[in-house]
Amino acid sequence: MEEKYTNFWQNGVYKCGKCGSPLICSSDKFKSTTAWPSFRDATAGAIKTRPDYSLGVARTEVLCAKCGQHLGHLFDDGKILGDSHSKAGNRYCILSNVLDFKKKNES
Ligand SMILES: [Zn+2]
Repeated sequence: MEEKYTNFWQNGVYKCGKCGSPLICSSDKFKSTTAWPSFRDATAGAIKTRPDYSLGVARTEVLCAKCGQHLGHLFDDGKILGDSHSKAGNRYCILSNVLDFKKKNES
């Protein structure tokens, strides 16, 4: 099943579903060929990363810097998977159900 923010293109901010910290701007979202919402960047200081070997492969886990909520993973295949942005490369693969979208001009 498709996640709720995978094909979702309104302008606003994606916040942490747990603590409400603003994590990612909609302008950094791009359409990837994966089933998950994909972002090329995140708000400075809003997320933190750590190595994750849970599936027997080295991945980079992405967490909320404020509350530690697991958000998803960071990959470097953004360009391959659909980001046409000139600085493309990073792909934050974030789970819809840990995000809380706020439209621009909404608090
Ligand atoms: Zn949080």
